[in-house]
Amino acid sequence: MRQRCHPSSCRTNVNSPSASSPHITIVGAGLAGSWLAWWLVQSGCTILLVDANEPTTSTRVAAGLVNPITGPRYQATWQGATLLPWMAEAYRSVERATGAAILRETRLWRVIRDADSLRRVRQRLHEGEYDWMNLRLVDAGSHHGIDMPFGAVDVQAYTVNTVAFVEAMHHWLQRNGSTVSHRIVGHNESQQGAVVWATGWHAASDKRWRWLPFAPVRGDILDVSIPDLDLQHVVTGRIWLVPQGGNLYRLGATYDWDRLDSVPHDVFRRELLDAAAALLGPRPMHVVHHAVGIRPAVLPRRPIVGQHPTEVNHYILNGLGTKGASLAPWAANALANHMVHGEALPADIDIAHYPYSDNV
Ligand SMILES: Cc1cc2nc3c(=O)[nH]c(=O)nc-3n(C[C@H](O)[C@H](O)[C@H](O)COP(=O)(O)OP(=O)(O)OC[C@H]3O[C@@H](n4cnc5c(N)ncnc54)[C@H](O)[C@@H]3O)c2cc1C
Repeated sequence: MRQRCHPSSCRTNVNSPSASSPHITIVGAGLAGSWLAWWLVQSGCTILLVDANEPTTSTRVAAGLVNPITGPRYQATWQGATLLPWMAEAYRSVERATGAAILRETRLWRVIRDADSLRRVRQRLHEGEYDWMNLRLVDAGSHHGIDMPFGAVDVQAYTVNTVAFVEAMHHWLQRNGSTVSHRIVGHNESQQGAVVWATGWHAASDKRWRWLPFAPVRGDILDVSIPDLDLQHVVTGRIWLVPQGGNLYRLGATYDWDRLDSVPHDVFRRELLDAAAALLGPRPMHVVHHAVGIRPAVLPRRPIVGQHPTEVNHYILNGLGTKGASLAPWAANALANHMVHGEALPADIDIAHYPYSDNV
């Protein structure tokens, strides 16, 4: 039987923070937990949001890029036609409520790798896959000092300032009757009411959730200064380069499934700098900062959301992988509507579809 945070019970305390204990505990205050808190409070719930306050997390190091064209095959991102405009409006609502600057529209140049890729892009254009995008093809040549022998796709994209988002959200929650606190929540701690685990890659080692198909992946990212490069737009190829103002760029990201620690390694720094040199040509680059995060990726490459099959007051919101900036608002909204209004979760993200074992 599904337990629900019934809307009428949620609404009793929304303007009266001291009235009694919060109805829903969210463990983890990254993109996932913070977005869920937002939607639940919109539905009248009062929240306790608890976070371990680690110095680096996936949310804190992310570049926040939302790219409509993804993968080595240049496909349109999953559900992009509906998801991206909806996501943009969701961030705008948070900006209006908090006064923070979070979402930025930008142009993105996806450099086309070779003749096969160009054929593929033209075919997708011809078949209408990119029709919903604001997009044009850039001719082969040298643009802003970058060689593009097969041209590029110039498309409207977004960047999300993930740190600004979580910080603004936490202040807003506290101003609106919810509680944000910093500590590690133990797996077996007894909790009142519903508990949502939005713990990122840590869920992969949590006895309650480790039966789900987690495949956490380390990512290294650099802040680099490139004195003779003056880009206003994002450039992506095998890696991506996001302008941060002046001559500063964020350069990312690596993928490694084995070294799941937060220590910056030279090997990944070198990998990024070599890839940047291949994209931009040889030019001076100075590393200002090197950060590491572990992405909460899962094998199906879709969010994993829902209620635990046997411990029915426990829920999960996870699996944002490489696309937390765009997927978090939507997946969190689906879970909030499920918990508060009893709406069915979209089938492709509901954990009910995974075989459960308590013996993993
Ligand atoms: C290098 C890199 C670059 C990226 N770039 C992009 C990008 O450009 N665009 C994009 O969309 N996505 C990007 N991502 C992915 C994005 O960061 C993630 O999809 C997203 O941030 C995941 O959010 P989350 O809230 O699920 O997890 P997290 O950010 O990991 O948050 C989980 C939180 O839970 C806390 N926690 C865990 N266990 C406990 C516990 N027991 N008690 C209390 N607190 C706990 C953690 O401390 C953490 O704060 C990038 C990731 C990396 C690593």
